[in-house]
Amino acid sequence: MPGFELFGDEERKEVNDVLETGILMRYGFDGPRKGIWKAQELEKVITETFGSKYAQLVSSGTAALTTALAALGVGAGDEVIMPSFTFVASFEAVLSVGAVPVIVDIDESLTLKPEAVRKAITPKTRCIMPVHMCGSMANLDALTQICNEHKLFLLEDACQSIGASYKGRALGTIGHAGAFSFDFVKTITCAEGGAVLTNSEDIYDKCDGYSDHGHDHMGVDRGADLHPFIGYNFRISELHAAVGLAQIRKLDTFLSIQKKNHTILKNILLQVPEISFRVILDENGDSCTFLSWFLPTEEITREVVSELKARNIYAGNFYWYDNNWHYIRRWQHLKNANALGALNNAQTAALSRLNDTDFSASDAIMGRCISTLINLSSTEEQLQEKGNKIVAVVREVLEKKLAVV
Ligand SMILES: *Cc1c(COP(=O)(O)O)cnc(C)c1O
Repeated sequence: MPGFELFGDEERKEVNDVLETGILMRYGFDGPRKGIWKAQELEKVITETFGSKYAQLVSSGTAALTTALAALGVGAGDEVIMPSFTFVASFEAVLSVGAVPVIVDIDESLTLKPEAVRKAITPKTRCIMPVHMCGSMANLDALTQICNEHKLFLLEDACQSIGASYKGRALGTIGHAGAFSFDFVKTITCAEGGAVLTNSEDIYDKCDGYSDHGHDHMGVDRGADLHPFIGYNFRISELHAAVGLAQIRKLDTFLSIQKKNHTILKNILLQVPEISFRVILDENGDSCTFLSWFLPTEEITREVVSELKARNIYAGNFYWYDNNWHYIRRWQHLKNANALGALNNAQTAALSRLNDTDFSASDAIMGRCISTLINLSSTEEQLQEKGNKIVAVVREVLEKKLAVV
């Protein structure tokens, strides 16, 4: 990750096909487009690549989550259970359909802790939204079981885990619906874009309409379409879809590079017994976009982070605990319910409660976690050098800390 590292002639060729006709929109203009349907083609390749019956392209991963929630019928008053470690898009999508984000602890898989999910279920819960963070999977067996017991929807946020799988099935295709993002820093990119994956014709039809103003796409032209329900405009353009088409054809290459580089780096960090690693429930299914590792304490982790920064080798490492985007601790705008317009009462009440919610179980994990990005363009020498430098810093910090005790 990210796919933009291997951008080239293939992407240019696909975009040029669209520029030749000048038809930048995915719907209509059947004559002038001369058989060029990049969005439709990409949707077909997505279903074939990941093994879902249907795929609906949209304008972003956030739009994919929003569209999926809407298609599942999640709306005002409903609660959606999501993890404390994710990207802000998760709660943005929930709030945008009028629902309440119920944020719960993660475990050392860096994803939803199933027992925390169970405790958070109320009569208002409609949906559980695991987020497959940093290239790897949530405990989908446990979460599916909970959804079945309580008749809840399972919506997988697989935006960061394109190409990862769980027990042989692609992440994003296991729940009632799944969301991908193709934004500029994701595994495959089309600048801005996303997709909803589902095996349900009903959910797919709703996504198809919702993301295009509620059009039923059954008319002889757009003007003749009916609108069975209210939708919005979350359409992808043909130019974006064209880039995505070139990128998805390289996905296998990206994944094999990631796996190779991940193994090299992990083997270096394994030299330090005090370093432990994220729990990966299905090692074969890891897309290996990141190597996430733990140090024994938050204090040691902070010291390692500041040493890496001081020596200019921090680039490509992420200490999410201090990050404004990915962890509940710094989501002050959410906890203060700083919306531009009024939120609904259930939302306002739930958000204000976040200020007193105990996330110490998540803190105890995230405070000790560093994720190292696995680049596509690194050479073996660069990886060895990077790994050795990290190990040297960790060893020094550990020695210093242990000497103090
Ligand atoms: C990137 C991302 C999204 C949203 O994707 P955009 O395409 O940037 O809107 C949602 N969830 C997670 C976990 C992400 O990493």
